[in-house]
Amino acid sequence: LGHPAGDAVLQEVALRLRNDLRGVDTVARLGGDEFAIVLPNTDATGAVRVSGKLLVALEPGMQVDGNNLSIDASIGIAAFPEHGDSSDLLLRCADIAMYVAKRTRSRYAAYSSTEDRHTASRLTLVSDLRHALDNDGLELHYQPKIDIHSDRIVGVEALARWRHPVHGFIPPDQFIPLAEQTGLIRPLTHWVLARALAQAAELERQGIILTMAVNLSVRNLQDPDLPGFVQAQLLKWQYPPARLILEITESAVMADSPNATAVVTALHDLGVAISIDDFGTGYSSLGHLRKFPIDEIKIDRSFVMDILAHAESGIIVNAVIGLAHNLGLTVTGEGVENQEILDLLAKLDCDTVQGYHLSRPLPAEALVEHLRRHAKQVAHASVTR
Ligand code: C2E
Ligand code: CA
Ligand code: CA
Repeated sequence: LGHPAGDAVLQEVALRLRNDLRGVDTVARLGGDEFAIVLPNTDATGAVRVSGKLLVALEPGMQVDGNNLSIDASIGIAAFPEHGDSSDLLLRCADIAMYVAKRTRSRYAAYSSTEDRHTASRLTLVSDLRHALDNDGLELHYQPKIDIHSDRIVGVEALARWRHPVHGFIPPDQFIPLAEQTGLIRPLTHWVLARALAQAAELERQGIILTMAVNLSVRNLQDPDLPGFVQAQLLKWQYPPARLILEITESAVMADSPNATAVVTALHDLGVAISIDDFGTGYSSLGHLRKFPIDEIKIDRSFVMDILAHAESGIIVNAVIGLAHNLGLTVTGEGVENQEILDLLAKLDCDTVQGYHLSRPLPAEALVEHLRRHAKQVAHASVTR
């Protein structure tokens, strides 16, 4: 909504905070969207009571430029002298307590030394991740995606990897949520997009034509600048938009913010393909998903891995494939770990598959090697569109 709207929100927040406090209390803005409040002669219990009041005061929507905005806050509490005897120390403790409040979604939390070590190491991890992003410290691995009927490799999915200099390999299931909670998801997604498109363009230069799939986080769908960034990258690498697939989890589209629909539509208008990831875990109906311009659904691996063991999973997968095809969507099965699952998915008329049985995600060099070894199964420039 722009900086003026941001300023208006900050002013309104400041007013609401001040309204509920005593004359002796101090409200100060620390910077960005952070405020500090000093409550003289108040213990931690009193501060908890004040926190509850402030959160209630922030609840009513704010009218800014004709938009009704809702604001949420997380509050960290530190008390003098129990938690520290200097303003630096107290601010640090309050900061740590605030991260605990965010992480546990409890909205406010008082400082506790047992949480401290955990949170302090987490804050270090956040700054390490920021550093890794600034210094090319992340990697992408690529998992081949295979056309089930022709047995050809038709694309790859880019998956982020972080090798931490001290802690070693940190799986994306851990650092992606960290990035989502700290605003780093935007630079991270930009980095992944740029890297994946550079790699895809390099493969094309070698005559290897593949689709490139990149995962988006729910937070990315709140970013109205994302379509512009994607467009600029496509231009930069001269990559055909139709071969870029953006994967959005079912739960992200179900979150249903008006922005998400606009961003997804703008991405689709660029000619980029939209895929619904982890389908089956978000309890949505395909009908509901129809308001998004989607091209593919990826059936979550929990269903796929289960189709041999439980007949119901097979029935669900079968129904999803039938419905998706009727709606003109292609279907990818994830988590294919053995030949039996592959055979069954082929029988159920699934279109494409991914899984350890076919290939694990591979670093770029190993991917090129894998593609060479399976040269007959790769679409080459001469034989594709
Ligand atoms: P996802 O998008 O569902 O990615 C597929 C995950 O399944 C990958 O885990 C992949 O290694 C794993 N996988 C593939 N085949 C098999 C199989 O046969 N069996 C089993 N058990 N697993 C298989 P990975 O790479 O650890 O990624 C986990 C999740 O982290 C991804 O799930 C995705 O949600 C997220 N993620 C990874 N990279 C990115 C990224 O660049 N951006 C965003 N926003 N999220 C990412
Ligand atoms: Ca995915
Ligand atoms: Ca998935």
